[in-house]
Formats: sequence, C-alpha cells, structure tokens
Amino acid sequence: MARRNVTLLGATGSIGRSTLDVIRRHPDRFRVHALAAGTRARELAALCREFRPRVAVMADPSAAALLRELLADLPDIRVLAGDDGVCEVAAAPEACTVVAAIVGAAGLRPTLAAVRAGKRVLLANKEALVMSGQLFMDAVAESGAELLPIDSEHNAIFQCLPAGKTRDPEAAGITRILLTASGGPFRGHTAEQLRTVSPAEACAHPNWSMGKKISVDSATLMNKGLELIEACWLFATDPSRIEVHVHPESIIHSMVEYADGSVLAQLGSPDMRTPIANALAWPERIDAGVAPLDLFAIGRFHFERPDLARFPCLRLAAEAFEAGGTAPAVLNAANEVAVARFLEGALRFSDIPVIIERTLTATDVVDADSFETIFAKDAEARRRAGEQIRLLTV
Ligand code: NAD
Ligand code: MG
Repeated sequence: MARRNVTLLGATGSIGRSTLDVIRRHPDRFRVHALAAGTRARELAALCREFRPRVAVMADPSAAALLRELLADLPDIRVLAGDDGVCEVAAAPEACTVVAAIVGAAGLRPTLAAVRAGKRVLLANKEALVMSGQLFMDAVAESGAELLPIDSEHNAIFQCLPAGKTRDPEAAGITRILLTASGGPFRGHTAEQLRTVSPAEACAHPNWSMGKKISVDSATLMNKGLELIEACWLFATDPSRIEVHVHPESIIHSMVEYADGSVLAQLGSPDMRTPIANALAWPERIDAGVAPLDLFAIGRFHFERPDLARFPCLRLAAEAFEAGGTAPAVLNAANEVAVARFLEGALRFSDIPVIIERTLTATDVVDADSFETIFAKDAEARRRAGEQIRLLTV
C-alpha cells in the first residue's frame, strides 16, 4: 500500500499533537511530509527529530532562525519561514493530505492554499470557514479539493450522512441536524458568577483538553456559534435546520434527523483522535488509540437547551450568519481580540459578548465578494474591537 504524505499545519497545537499520535500508530499508511507551526521552535524541532519531515516551517521568522540552528545536524530537513512558507507547504505537490489545524484567522491563507491545490483537507481551523464561507466553499468546488471535517461535531454529522450526499440535505431526506454542545465549564453558573471567572477556570474544560482560544470559546458558547456557521457551510443548510442540544457528557458528538423520524448519532469518548483518524483514513477505519466506550460506566445521557441570555455568543453567531456578507468575519475577528484580552486578564469574561456585539454594530456589513474584502473587514473589526475594549475598561 502506498503511504499517504501528510502536511500538518499547526503541528505543535492540541490538534497537531493528536494528529501526530494517530500517524505514529500507522507508519505503514502515513508519512509526514511537512510540519508547520507558529512560534515554538524547540517543540517543532523535537517533532522533526521524531517524524523526519522533508520541510519544517515556522511562521515567526526569528523562531525559524532558531529552528534552523536546532536542526543543523539534519540538513535533509528544509526549514522555511513566515506565512509565505506556511502557504508554500500547504500547496506543495508532494503531500496529498493537509491537516488544517492553525488556530484562528491566521489559518485562512494556508488552508485556502491547500484547498486551491486540490488537496484532501482535514479541517480543524473552523475560523477560516466562518470568515469566508461562500468563497471558501466555491474554492473547494473549483479545485476539486476533498474537504473532511475533523471538528468532532461535524465529523459526527459527516459520518451520519449518506456517503456522497453531504451537500444535498433535501435529496438525502434530512430534516434537522442536532448539534451537541458540552455547555462548557460554566454551564451552571449564574450571570453574576460569570462576571468574575478567571482565564484558568475558563480553560479547564470538563471533557476536552484543547488549546486556550477554543477552550474560552467553549466556555462562552462562541465555539458552538462558530460551529453552527461551520455546519451551515459544510452541509449546505441554514440555522433554522440546526438545533443545538447541550449534552454535558460529550459522548454523542452530534446527530442527523431524517424525514422518516430516524435519528442517527455518532458516539465516542471525547478524544479528538477519533475524528482525526476517521478523516485521515476515510473511507477506511483505523485504530486511533482511543479506549473503547464504556456506556455502563457513563450510565446516563442528559440534554438541555442552551441559555442564550447567559451565553449570548451563540445568538450573535446565528445573527451574523443571517446578516451574511462580511458579518461572520467581523464576529470572528472581534471574538479573537476579546478572547486574547480576556486571557491576558484585561477583560471580564462576561464582557466578551458585549465587545463582539458592539463591534458588529459599529462595522458595516458588505458583500463578501473577495478574500481581500474579507481580510480588510477582519482588520477593521480588530481595530474597532480594540476601541470598544478601551471604552469599556477605562
Ligand atoms: P492550539 O493553540 O493548541 O494550537 C494552534 C497551532 O497553530 C499551534 O501549533 C501554533 O503554533 C499554530 N499557529 C498559530 N499561529 C500560526 C501561524 N500564523 N502560522 C502557523 N501556525 C500557527 O489550538 P488547537 O486547540 O489545536 O486548535 C486548532 C484549531 O482546531 C482551531 O481552529 C480550533 O478551533 C480547532 N479545533 C480544535 C479542537 C481541539 O480539541 N483542540 C477541536 C475542534 C476544533
Ligand atoms: Mg467541536
């Protein structure tokens, strides 16, 4: 069997490490062609020693210089620097599979480069799709790229859809998508309690171990808002056909309801190696290193409706999708700025949705007719979110 060459964008992150753990178990199936990351040169150097990629990239130029020094005894590994280097490996002809696991808007250009080069793209970087929805999906259609979701909910939905009909809900007889959410670490908190929660508390997710940004997004429910938009684009549907179900056990990763009343669900331990392995090997099934599910130990499943009064981010995301055009890009940019300030201790948790809403109000929606327009709106929204934070915190 020919091995698949894989390029991993965001190699030092939470998804990156889970991906490498799956690849490590299957040296006969996968070979790492390139590893790319942001700033952590020592971590990337250690991964290069183990996986021996042909190319390694650091987006940060000084980190790239350090990586070059650290890998001086391995001259076969080409070291590239900067965003252009990340885009270059994303599109390189040697790899047929690209795992898009950079966090935030920084992932859009490289993910798009992989899409335009017609790769099998394993999408974790939901922000890229949220920002550029229609243009992104058009690029997938034009290049013939194969887009496979590894966000656990979307991978679950993908698995519950009839193969080949993932973009035609009508023809497939789909009536609803039931998108599950853990509810995050503050599910039972009162509005008053939410005012004083710390970054450390927000990052301590009850079920999943993830990067900081997505952990905060899970705590505000913005993650579910971004995922709602992600599901609309991936599965060609709209928010009226998606219902968020808070399911604190995080065992059912989402469900699809059909016209005959059948509801198909995908279950599994909350471990990202399952959706990653599913997409890496698709349509085959491989060992992901995940312990078998013990339903006797879990005992019960619970479901509740999300509380949009305490967690307005989910409502803001649905509204941004309905507004269309550049609104989702503005939502995403304002969220990235607010979350970063919250993690620095400079903004209250409960002010994250306030900043996003004010930024959305202050920024005109225009047609998302080009990627240039989207990047310009992203920059404008970041400036405006910064202003709103200054106004709120003086
Ligand atoms: P993380 O913070 O742990 O890792 C982010 C990675 O991106 C790091 O390797 C970092 O070096 C790299 N990076 C950052 N900026 C970069 C740049 N400009 N160029 C190149 N690399 C850059 O984040 P994560 O939790 O692994 O999440 C990654 C993405 O996957 C996010 O979009 C997130 O929403 C999504 N996702 C994560 C999980 C999870 O369980 N962690 C689940 C579903 C979806
Ligand atoms: Mg998810």
